[in-house]
Amino acid sequence: MSRFYITTAIPYVNAKPHIGFALELVQADVVARYQRQLLGKDNVRFLTGTDENALKNVQAAEKEGRPTSEYVAEMSERFRSLTQGLNISNDDFIRTTEERHVRGATKLWQSCRPEDIYKKSYSGLYCVGCEQYYTEDELEDGLCPDHNVKPEMVAEENYFFKLSSYQGRLEQLIASDEFKIIPESRKNEMLAFIRRGLEDFSISRSRTRAKDWGVPVPGDATQVMYVWFDALSNYLNALGYADRGELWQDFWAKGARKLHVIGKGITRFHCIYWPAMLLSAGLPLPNEIFVHGYVTVDGQKISKSLGNTVDPVELVNKYGAEPVRYYLLREIPAWEDGDYSEAKFKQRYESDLANGLGNTFSRVTNMVEKYGLPAADSAKVPPERAVQHDIDNFQFDVALGKIFGFLRTIDQEIEQTKPWQLAKEGNENKVQEFLNGWVQELRQVGKMLAPFMPETSQKITAALRAERITKAEPLFPRLI
Ligand SMILES: [Zn+2]
Repeated sequence: MSRFYITTAIPYVNAKPHIGFALELVQADVVARYQRQLLGKDNVRFLTGTDENALKNVQAAEKEGRPTSEYVAEMSERFRSLTQGLNISNDDFIRTTEERHVRGATKLWQSCRPEDIYKKSYSGLYCVGCEQYYTEDELEDGLCPDHNVKPEMVAEENYFFKLSSYQGRLEQLIASDEFKIIPESRKNEMLAFIRRGLEDFSISRSRTRAKDWGVPVPGDATQVMYVWFDALSNYLNALGYADRGELWQDFWAKGARKLHVIGKGITRFHCIYWPAMLLSAGLPLPNEIFVHGYVTVDGQKISKSLGNTVDPVELVNKYGAEPVRYYLLREIPAWEDGDYSEAKFKQRYESDLANGLGNTFSRVTNMVEKYGLPAADSAKVPPERAVQHDIDNFQFDVALGKIFGFLRTIDQEIEQTKPWQLAKEGNENKVQEFLNGWVQELRQVGKMLAPFMPETSQKITAALRAERITKAEPLFPRLI
């Protein structure tokens, strides 16, 4: 057993990747890298990708006067290069226009219990931005609460999924944590939503309204699948669900631990629709859903109309992957919303990275070069598992707070013990003893940082592994 499968959500490609998705990639990457340390590289699989079948993608392509397939291919590349820029360790990247996905989505539809899918006429208020129907009382002044636009009234015949049949089972699975939602506040939201009563939801669109774009409904040429129905199945399809291949067996069917990392805006799809679809198809459920908050910019919600979008690719190009990873993981509380501002970014960079980590590291290595180390290692070793619990809890900010706390302690000890004075007084043995302790601690810091800042971790580890430790180059040059 002991296999682990982790996924991010797959974003629509109607706009460039934004900083909120960068947060999700980085969070999932920490968990994936950490699990590889525990289970070995072959026992972990990490998936991300892009959702390309939405109507809003078609509209975005139309706006640019380009064929949809060409447009989504190019936009998908931007997401792929974001994963590379941020040094994300995903094993696979799925596009929902790929054949493996279309075949899998089709198979999932066909595998649902026949009595769970039925056709009916329907009319409702639809927001294309959200790709979902709204009831009157969910709107704010008649507008979509997320997009501030008036949803369109849509009336057509669609296929529906009998979600109402799964109310009791879903409530029980979520309440018992058999299907675990983290944090608890999100779990309670979902339980409250279920207890208000679940309504069946539409899982197809007319081919005309979908502008002939999407996964065809098996056996009905007039309809395509509702984008969420096909999109959710990407988690199975990337493992070769359509052919029930080896990856599918190892990482889904035969008891691997399965975790989806998502943003708070799509909990209902992942915590209610998705498990119900899997139950209907007789497939195992994911074990856990981790829900992160949103990133605001200068205290405001990111929106195109405010023009306050932050391009994570530009940030990476300017500062490098590691400072961006650090900021997102340290400054954004993983369970809640958090804020980005350029001022705060620079402050974190200067105080935590250039000064805290970088300076402490070069101080210690500098002194080792000067005064040397005792022949035998005999010093205290801080708890290597200090942050294990925090990573298991998805509290990356707390974990980094602890690691940087160790660094602060080293720095304070240097100030208090003043090794350079001890050396002047001829107490070199004492100096070496202190240095030995700090080097051990820095080695541990290097190890603990590995899932968060893999390159920095490697630099620290390599420098301290050297036969003769010499003064390290600055890890993070100061900003000018
Ligand atoms: Zn909307």
